[in-house]
Amino acid sequence: MMYRDYWVCPDCGAALDPDEKCNCHDRRPAAYCFMCAMPLYPEDALYDQDPAYEIDGHVLCEDCVDKYVEKNCRKVLPFVTVPNDYGMHRNLY
Ligand SMILES: [Zn+2]
Ligand SMILES: [Zn+2]
Repeated sequence: MMYRDYWVCPDCGAALDPDEKCNCHDRRPAAYCFMCAMPLYPEDALYDQDPAYEIDGHVLCEDCVDKYVEKNCRKVLPFVTVPNDYGMHRNLY
């Protein structure tokens, strides 16, 4: 019986039979995340597309979209203390 060696795809690390072609090369990233540089793949026969978002013209992965928004797109509001009705009445009368 012949021992079947396997090979490891240098691009994705998948362990494959010698006659097996790695399918990672079938998928080309449609874009790369602006923040973490993760490749984002389009939909194909086997997979749905990776979630991708666009903010300010940057493409972001699902993980980074929250980080980006937190960092660049929102301000922390310092709530100003507003006198309530009771306080106002006290001042008026
Ligand atoms: Zn591969
Ligand atoms: Zn990312």
